[in-house]
Amino acid sequence: MGQTSGREERSRKPEVAPSKIMEAEIEVQNNKEEPKEVKAKNQKLTSVFGLADLKNEAIGLYNLGQSCCLNSLLQVFLMNIRFTRILRRYLLFELPGVFPWLHSALHSFFYMGCAFERITVPSSPAQRRSNVPYQMLLLLEKMQCGKCKAVGPTDLARCLSEHRVELFVQHDAAQLFLTLWNLLKKQMKKAELVEELCDLYTICIQEHVACQKCSFEVKSKSTMLTLPLPVLDAHSHRLKTLEDCLQYFFHPEELSGQNMCFCQQCGRKTTFLQSMKLVHLPQTLTLHLKRFCFERSSRTHKLSHYLPFPQELDLRQVLTESQCQADDSEKATWQYELFAVVAHSGSASCGHYCAYIRSLTDCKWYCFNDSEVCQVSWDDVKCTYGHSNLYWRETAYLLFYMKKQAQQPWPGVSECL
Ligand code: ZN
Repeated sequence: MGQTSGREERSRKPEVAPSKIMEAEIEVQNNKEEPKEVKAKNQKLTSVFGLADLKNEAIGLYNLGQSCCLNSLLQVFLMNIRFTRILRRYLLFELPGVFPWLHSALHSFFYMGCAFERITVPSSPAQRRSNVPYQMLLLLEKMQCGKCKAVGPTDLARCLSEHRVELFVQHDAAQLFLTLWNLLKKQMKKAELVEELCDLYTICIQEHVACQKCSFEVKSKSTMLTLPLPVLDAHSHRLKTLEDCLQYFFHPEELSGQNMCFCQQCGRKTTFLQSMKLVHLPQTLTLHLKRFCFERSSRTHKLSHYLPFPQELDLRQVLTESQCQADDSEKATWQYELFAVVAHSGSASCGHYCAYIRSLTDCKWYCFNDSEVCQVSWDDVKCTYGHSNLYWRETAYLLFYMKKQAQQPWPGVSECL
């Protein structure tokens, strides 16, 4: 079905001239186990919200004028049940005055042993208009009311424009993803929810720089929202698979010649070895294929060559012992399944985004192309591997992998059906 009809019907709207991609470095977050009390609370939430998630089919988002990038990212966020669960708890914790019917229903569920904290409520209409998590929630509710095939993300787009995310302009998906995430994190405020959001999306790495003449070395931990993977090596040779890109990203680099660093111990500039080690991986792992190439002339061009990525990704098999800084129990969780692909078609200056997402409830792939949503096959998704001679065709740009044991986050759903 969708394989031909859905793909050919797709319009090619002008979009996307990526500006320089900011690498998604963010502050270090602790990775703590979810408290038992919270887990129990989430299971109860399932019985309230899980039905809606299961019964509604995928809903499209109207293009407001070059908003295909935003639409694709919103679908990836909102189809992730773990993300919507955090969003809904935001409503519960921080916006108790909103949706009174819902709140009273939840109240009866959670009143016992659960403290309601009435904090940071955006009480005025103006505050609500500019509150990104709240506007995302409203959009989600609109999508789930089940009356329309597609809805318009107008209020959310307007809300984002108050935070300098311009409307009707070309965005780069990797950059917009980071912007959205930072706005969500900033506005959610409540530490518990921010921590959950970080656990869901942030990657923890250790950067290591060592002098090659003496024993001097510097180690520092940092977190990233995406792994920005080069698709070419240092000699501009094409990397052949996603696994090669990952391996290359974590490959140590020698800082010699003009790149030598000053060593405090040697008292002069020496050759250093710079490397990154993987410390912790989140539930939803975001990989950014750096297919847009920025030249010195400031011209941007797209690298469309064939680069396959697997449905199942085991990072333990991809990285060597020396590229990891994690114990066995952490590494045991590094098995992923592909959840979504944000794909770009067209050239660097003019193109279009859409999202392929594997539903967590029916395990089928869907293509979200603005207001058009159709079921597709894995072969359709594989079409985003790229092709050098067909540079305008779709190429995967962002890949979202989900931890295997995180695939079934709704133990209570079957019970309440
Ligand atoms: Zn030294």
